[in-house]
Amino acid sequence: MNKPETLIIQSDQPEKWQKILSDLITDPKDLLDYLQLDEAQRPASLMAQTQFPMKVPMPFAAKMRKADWGDPLLKQIWPATEEEIVDSRYVTDPLAEADSNPMSGLLHKYHGRVLLTAAPHCAVHCRYCFRRHFDYEENAPSRVLWQRCFDYIGADNSIEEVILSGGDPLALADKQIGWLLDELESIHHITTIRIHTRLPIVIPQRITNELIEILSLRKVKIVMVIHCNHAQELCSDSRHALNTLSSIGLILMNQSVVLKDVNDNADCLVELSRKLFSVSVLPYYLHLPDEVAGTAHFDVSRNRALNLIAQMQTRLPGYLVPKLVKEEPGQPSKTRIG
Ligand SMILES: *Cc1c(COP(=O)(O)O)cnc(C)c1O
Ligand code: SF4
Repeated sequence: MNKPETLIIQSDQPEKWQKILSDLITDPKDLLDYLQLDEAQRPASLMAQTQFPMKVPMPFAAKMRKADWGDPLLKQIWPATEEEIVDSRYVTDPLAEADSNPMSGLLHKYHGRVLLTAAPHCAVHCRYCFRRHFDYEENAPSRVLWQRCFDYIGADNSIEEVILSGGDPLALADKQIGWLLDELESIHHITTIRIHTRLPIVIPQRITNELIEILSLRKVKIVMVIHCNHAQELCSDSRHALNTLSSIGLILMNQSVVLKDVNDNADCLVELSRKLFSVSVLPYYLHLPDEVAGTAHFDVSRNRALNLIAQMQTRLPGYLVPKLVKEEPGQPSKTRIG
């Protein structure tokens, strides 16, 4: 098949999801207006805004409650003044990812799998993000860099799985995704391609018929790990998108981050597991927040998180209880807590 000249190809007719993606809410004032909120009650941090600008797709904003500063979706994306709190435990590269970055765009930390930072951007900026200080532009894929990644993977038989991750791989155009899957599938020791994405939640319109066609009938197993923190994120469009993805045989799982005042209570996590399961998504990981500079206000202690998991266990079948994990630099896998 012909390789595209560059990986950023826009079709002449931008699709609906691409319009949404190019029309993100980036000014806190616009979001305040839309949600009928009073700025005096909860100002935005200008400093946080310049370091990691606000970015919210309209379909995600539409799931927020109006005039409610306590909304759990709003909290995930609002550049709060608390981000300026300086705490020496909170650093810019808490996972020491710079150490396992053998080449631009590729992270090889764990046995058997590599992670490609497939796209230069996410569709949303989650304030707690552990990659908020990651240099995506530096790791932005170009055709030459991709070839080096394929060569690296091809030369190491122990790699069976390739993870396409953040920036959000589904922010790429269909052609690029198809090309990437074709190239990776042609490496004979690759058995699984995993896609880490928040798009079925934040822009469910991304799951188009064209994309479904590209993901269908693959020789490798395709696993999609979505990122949803709260049942309120599962609107009918998201549910429809997830049902469609599962109907073509994708394995669907979810990872969440336990976040103070967003989802750090058992009722909320139980409801999330149940709602996800109703659209064939199983829980995978529940992450303790990483110690990333600017995110201390989201912190939930280990003991509190363990207690939440214990409560979930008394109320749900085992397969609906996520594994509580934390990422610790230098470890051969994520670290199980408890
Ligand atoms: C989290 C992560 C993975 C995936 O780990 P799993 O436990 O298989 O989900 C792979 N590579 C890197 C660099 C990661 O951060
Ligand atoms: S979608 Fe994931 S990688 Fe992107 S900002 Fe949110 S948490 Fe970070």
